[in-house]
Amino acid sequence: MQLYSTNNKHNIVNLKEAVLNAFPQDKGLYMPTEIPKLDKQFLDHLNQYSFEEIGFQVAARLMGDAIPESELYQLIARAINFKAPLVQLTEQISTLELWHGPTMAFKDFGARFMAELMSYFLRDEDRPTTILVATSGDTGGAVAAGFHKVPGIEVIILYPSGKVSALQEKQLTTWGDNISAIEIDGVFDDCQRLVKTAFIDADLQQQYNFSSANSINIARLIPQSFYYFEGYKQVKDKSRPIVVSVPSGNFGNLTAGLLAAQMGLPIHQFIAATNANDTVPAYLTSGTYTAKPSVPTISNAMDVGNPSNFPRMQALFAGQDESSTWNKLKEFIIGDSYSDTETYQAIKGIQSLHNYEADPHGAVGYLACQDYLKEYSTHQTIFLETAHPGKFEAPMKEALGKVSFPPKLEAFMSGEKVAKSCSKNYTDFKEILLS
Ligand SMILES: *Cc1c(COP(=O)(O)O)cnc(C)c1O
Repeated sequence: MQLYSTNNKHNIVNLKEAVLNAFPQDKGLYMPTEIPKLDKQFLDHLNQYSFEEIGFQVAARLMGDAIPESELYQLIARAINFKAPLVQLTEQISTLELWHGPTMAFKDFGARFMAELMSYFLRDEDRPTTILVATSGDTGGAVAAGFHKVPGIEVIILYPSGKVSALQEKQLTTWGDNISAIEIDGVFDDCQRLVKTAFIDADLQQQYNFSSANSINIARLIPQSFYYFEGYKQVKDKSRPIVVSVPSGNFGNLTAGLLAAQMGLPIHQFIAATNANDTVPAYLTSGTYTAKPSVPTISNAMDVGNPSNFPRMQALFAGQDESSTWNKLKEFIIGDSYSDTETYQAIKGIQSLHNYEADPHGAVGYLACQDYLKEYSTHQTIFLETAHPGKFEAPMKEALGKVSFPPKLEAFMSGEKVAKSCSKNYTDFKEILLS
């Protein structure tokens, strides 16, 4: 498999390089040079394959000879060891539950696969690798879960003190073993800055072999394409055009869906469903991309004003000029944005109409399905349920008066927090790393 940088088509690397060194010098994003088509035979008989077999077929075609097939199969079986069930709410609306992994958000797919792939590529290194990751909440937990007890890899998580929820903090600080957490007296941007400075600090390079688990790593995108096939497989009536609504923030999830479609999965259209942070829906309407400062909402994992994967979406639909790219994108992707008030109402409505508890992110996806069906009444819609509602206690209680809290999340709450405290000054942070 070869990858190019979205900022320079001639900057070509192999998968190992792209995974271990996620930031190209030119500040672009890595994308596959070629997107292979899957065999019709496979696509027509998806229901004869298990989820892990589907993952293997898709990955093997995409990744080519980057990893021997027998190793790849084992790697996928370890990483994707939980299900992605499709739950039908009405004849034309279903939800694909992506929260059955260890931290109960879809980020487990990307983080676990990335952890497996990194440890595969690093296994011949004699020096342990240290993954430094800055998190605003969910990503750090999924990365910790993915790398916990992976031999030869240490993970150091930086998070902003007081800016993550109680549950999120537990999911960052209770692992032990090869995972440690540093609580920074600052905001997320401070954490990000400390990580970036450490990466280029020559003193630290003597002692550490750093790598990044940043969300733009291509290793996180690849496994996210698997569950679109798994969801499609479970649709009973495939005679209607199938449309997938993706609650989006940085647009990694939606980009993975576009990848699945370009590999041959017959998805009719996608819906980019956002909260008030509507940069992409606004682009789809106007043809002009304008990044904005993010605004806080109750679907906070989607509070992104300048989605990092947008250049990948453009790359997948690149036309001769900007306006032809826009035309191609808006033909295939419908943009919709919803307020918190609408989201609260949707959570209530889904509960009372369908007896289903959807989290605030999934509820945004549901709203977009409803609106889509008003216009295209014969289609079949699926919204992605990106996290378990128990992760968002406050808005769920506000909407429904209660929320279910599964044992998996209980277990995190009872763990003991272990974290070092640090100011936002680089010298203090460096001292901790050197000690
Ligand atoms: C990260 C996240 C999203 C947004 O996904 P992107 O790939 O960044 O668009 C949506 N919902 C939840 C629960 C998330 O954690």
